[in-house]
Amino acid sequence: MKIPLLDLKAHHGPLKAELLEAFEAVFDSQAFILGPEVKALEEVIAPYCQSEHAIGVSSGTDALLLALMALGVGPGDEVITSTYTFFATGGVIARVGATPVFVDIDPVSFNLAPEKVEAAVSPKTKVIIPVHLYGQVADMDAILEIANRHRLKVVEDAAQAIGAEYKDGRRAGSMGDIGCFSFFPSKNLGALGDGGLVTASDTDLADRLRKMRVHGGHPKYYHQMIGGNFRLDSIQAAFVKVKLKYLDGWTRQRQENAKHYASLFKQSGLIEKEALGLPRAVYADSGCAHYHIYNQFVIRVRDRDALREFLAKAEIGAEIYYPVPVHLQDCFKDLGYKQGDCPEAEKAAAESLALPIYPELTDEMQAVVVEGIKRFYTG
Ligand SMILES: *Cc1c(COP(=O)(O)O)cnc(C)c1O
Repeated sequence: MKIPLLDLKAHHGPLKAELLEAFEAVFDSQAFILGPEVKALEEVIAPYCQSEHAIGVSSGTDALLLALMALGVGPGDEVITSTYTFFATGGVIARVGATPVFVDIDPVSFNLAPEKVEAAVSPKTKVIIPVHLYGQVADMDAILEIANRHRLKVVEDAAQAIGAEYKDGRRAGSMGDIGCFSFFPSKNLGALGDGGLVTASDTDLADRLRKMRVHGGHPKYYHQMIGGNFRLDSIQAAFVKVKLKYLDGWTRQRQENAKHYASLFKQSGLIEKEALGLPRAVYADSGCAHYHIYNQFVIRVRDRDALREFLAKAEIGAEIYYPVPVHLQDCFKDLGYKQGDCPEAEKAAAESLALPIYPELTDEMQAVVVEGIKRFYTG
């Protein structure tokens, strides 16, 4: 049985009629740019994200870029973020001319280690960007405490964590100054193309974000500030609005799949043999429904690269998020980081492997995945 890492055909198939209807409505209106569909999505998704304001943008990357631009981050400023993340988080810092300061992770959650954030704060630090990796919220109380004490802004990279809840029920993107989300098709709430969102609860900041989304002109063609074209397409907004209704159901299915993997792996004996470690849902006992939304189900394994090759031959999809921590990327060589600077992230980069966890994955398919992994280690 062929088991892909993600099956968008199975995901979108049942929604085809509804999505085509949404397309038709935008087509009939011909309002492709910031039409009523964008506003309609923003109005329903802001409360979902527990934020006062939601602003649809062109991608998750642009959400992060716009956030730093709106906070006035530029040359001479330092921005602290996790080194174990998708490249965009670090890339946008350099793109606004600021200096990224990459910090190691906590090995259990894969998220920013607060004590290492504290150690990285300097007089030049302006912003901290925690990343809620794989769909689990970073330790925000500790990060916000550091930010408040040093008067820093906090931009949450919630691209993988829409709706995910911190231990007391606060949702990803609602706790810092700005929340950044992605509608890339592989995220839990994906568009049928690129898209993203920023959230903010401060009205002045939201106004600024909204203006900078359209080049900073207000009224149009009169510029007090420089923004960009960071608009979300009306068509994508309409698709995302259709899909938002189903998001909580998909999250439940992902959580059930995670629980099922846990029991299958326990039965497999691989954990006792120390071939494999399961992901930990840090807030599983918090009573929050969205303690982890499992954008990815990432295990730690021995002989990771050989296992991945073995699984690929068996047509079982598995992926490495991420093989190289950002502080060791070639393009950041000039920053002077070296191997050993962020040991936990470097270890994670060598051991982590994401398995299929998408909502449509069946118990039978999960059994095949676990069987395949067992065959690799036990022959
Ligand atoms: C996907 C992702 C992004 C970028 O989102 P795009 O919509 O692909 O630009 C940024 N940060 C993280 C952590 C992501 O997973």
